[in-house]
Amino acid sequence: MLAMWWYTLLALFVLSGLPSGGPGVALADDCLAAVDWPLAVRLRAGITSEAVFGLPWEEARWVFYPVTKERPLPADYVPPDLVRTTAGGAAPAGPQPVRQLILPDLEAMFAAARADGVVLGIYSGYRSYQTQAAIFESGVRQQLARGGASRAEAEARVNRFRARPGHSQHQLGTTLDLTSPEAGNGIGGRFAATRASQWVRERAWEFGFVLPYTEASEPRTGYAPEPWHVRWVGRELAALLMAEGYLDRSEPVLDDYLFTLEALLAGGAGECQAGNRGGTSG
Ligand SMILES: [Zn+2]
Repeated sequence: MLAMWWYTLLALFVLSGLPSGGPGVALADDCLAAVDWPLAVRLRAGITSEAVFGLPWEEARWVFYPVTKERPLPADYVPPDLVRTTAGGAAPAGPQPVRQLILPDLEAMFAAARADGVVLGIYSGYRSYQTQAAIFESGVRQQLARGGASRAEAEARVNRFRARPGHSQHQLGTTLDLTSPEAGNGIGGRFAATRASQWVRERAWEFGFVLPYTEASEPRTGYAPEPWHVRWVGRELAALLMAEGYLDRSEPVLDDYLFTLEALLAGGAGECQAGNRGGTSG
């Protein structure tokens, strides 16, 4: 356990010189204790007055927005630059909407995979709040139709595999479900067993894509592993996560990085939020 004076020193060190805030923000002791300060120190190195992990400040809020079971997106959030794409070729559901911001890295990733003899495509891209609500509800109805489960039990079962509306990273427009002809252009267990899945695990980070839902992260996120579900966070943050071995670690998970980063970007005002980390339910 670190002593309170040590938290305070760390806080002053980490927050000093941050472009949006800096020291002088009054921080309650319990807030200081809740922040993962060693992680904050590592993330602080990626923030300059020009960029946040290589992204302009105005992009950082939504690209790094923590979306968990506890932390929703605003219901009316729609990304500003959605485009439809069939990048990669394999697109069983037709062209998918994604943010234009991620297209260069997405196309570069698909090209690099092809160079390794792996064909990747987009199974599912951006999903609106309303679409997610319909998908979640249809899953709950399927559960209820089997009988024996209450509404609450059915929702809990579905929520291991599907996010509630507002809680899907797909609403960001920077998150995709990938597929491959190797998996019959599907997802699920068939995709998990493919070379394509292995390739994504080993190399997607080079193009800014990370895997939020791994076996290791399940106790924290509350979601079953989804090796086809990738979220773009830019190449710099993805490289840091990979260097820190996030794929095989139960903590910190991607959400921990994002909550801590959000607190840093708020210049201290978000410290308490950083302690109120989501995804702790099983
Ligand atoms: Zn997904």
